[in-house]
Amino acid sequence: MKVIIIGAGIAGLSTAWYLQKEYANALDITILEASGSVGGKIQTKNIDGFFYECGPRSIRGDFDLINELQLQDEVLVASKYAKRRFLASHGRLKAFTWIKCLPAILTYPLRWSRTPGDVSIATYFGERFGASFVDTFIDPFCAGIYAGLPDALSYQACFPKKRHAAQIFTFKQGMQTLTSVLAVKIKGKILLNTKVLRIDDHPQNVTVLTDSGLYTADRVISTVNPTAMLPPEDPLRLVVPQVPKASLVTVSLGYYEDLLPERGFGFLASSKEERRLLGVIFDSCVFPQQNGAYKTRLSVMLGGAKAPHMLELSDDALYSEAVDACKKYLGVGQPAHVWAVTRHPHAISQYPVGHLQRMQVLEEALTGRRIQLAGADLYDVSIAGLIKRAEAGVFMNHLGLAHK
Ligand SMILES: Cc1cc2nc3c(=O)[nH]c(=O)nc-3n(C[C@H](O)[C@H](O)[C@H](O)COP(=O)(O)OP(=O)(O)OC[C@H]3O[C@@H](n4cnc5c(N)ncnc54)[C@H](O)[C@@H]3O)c2cc1C
Repeated sequence: MKVIIIGAGIAGLSTAWYLQKEYANALDITILEASGSVGGKIQTKNIDGFFYECGPRSIRGDFDLINELQLQDEVLVASKYAKRRFLASHGRLKAFTWIKCLPAILTYPLRWSRTPGDVSIATYFGERFGASFVDTFIDPFCAGIYAGLPDALSYQACFPKKRHAAQIFTFKQGMQTLTSVLAVKIKGKILLNTKVLRIDDHPQNVTVLTDSGLYTADRVISTVNPTAMLPPEDPLRLVVPQVPKASLVTVSLGYYEDLLPERGFGFLASSKEERRLLGVIFDSCVFPQQNGAYKTRLSVMLGGAKAPHMLELSDDALYSEAVDACKKYLGVGQPAHVWAVTRHPHAISQYPVGHLQRMQVLEEALTGRRIQLAGADLYDVSIAGLIKRAEAGVFMNHLGLAHK
């Protein structure tokens, strides 16, 4: 059976890996990737010894995948400081502890209003713990995970019930190790610089038109929203959720000196505190083994749903914005010895209220179809979540293949 996977990000690569693992040589897998490299948002850079991640910098989870890829010796677990988190508050940093939530939790029994069904994260926590709890604790959480705003995100879709504490880790050579090794160990073909333009689901097969040729398969799994690629008459077009995306910018800063006043994972800023800054990650504290000559490495996250226009600023303006934020909250105002800007247009899915109900409709529409979907627009934006979903083998059933 021929299977085409669209997109060589972590969703596409891990899907290919688990299909290969389950069916060995029974499947002929081809991954079509629009860009010139694998990994999607996962891109590690090392410029003259300055090591930084353009996109995700760590994974929270534990997987058999690491052992299966024989990457155990490459894993780098976050330092003890990763447990210390800070919030930006009135121009200063405050260590986050659960005790700070106590007043809101103690008044919890006094609040009885509950809107039934799915509601926004702001409504859910606002009804239970009050508006200032949302502004102080929930808004920064939304900035940190979704680069989003609590009144635009669905509580049900963004707060999955089962969350287990797991370690935070990366790899000695950075996050890209995972996707590069997957790409090498996947036996199928990976065609780079191959952008999918159209997908036609016929009774006998699926044809996939790309900018470099036409491909035929028995099944297609798209990790990108397929709406624009489907013909107008395909009913899937009407039910694929159009999930809004937040755009953000990462400014990576490196300094030879040890400048941080506090050790920790970093800090987050609520939208009331800062209109353009999402937060700053203290990379040099979390993974000091990657520091090289740079004793302080910071990632300043700007923009997100609260300031989408930030992507339009020049590199110099973004750098200044980042240095200003570091000066204000960390007292680090001197020019960085090295810096780099990465823009992430339409990068993080913002599941709106009612998203899971729309997903149910989509799942029904996908039953029996040759086209299946994966990727961060569906249920989880985290790398751990995307890998777990691929591992759970949802595609096996949809592909009409039973688990072995
Ligand atoms: C700045 C940033 C920081 C993040 N930090 C973390 C973190 O620390 N931990 C974490 O767990 N998650 C983090 N995330 C989220 C996580 O990185 C993403 O949700 C995840 O990597 C998405 O994987 P994906 O495979 O679904 O999509 P992508 O990585 O976007 O891959 C999709 C691929 O499809 C390709 N493609 C698109 N259109 C076509 C087409 N028409 N034809 C062929 N190919 C196409 C793209 O080129 C791309 O390679 C972060 C995200 C960002 C932006």
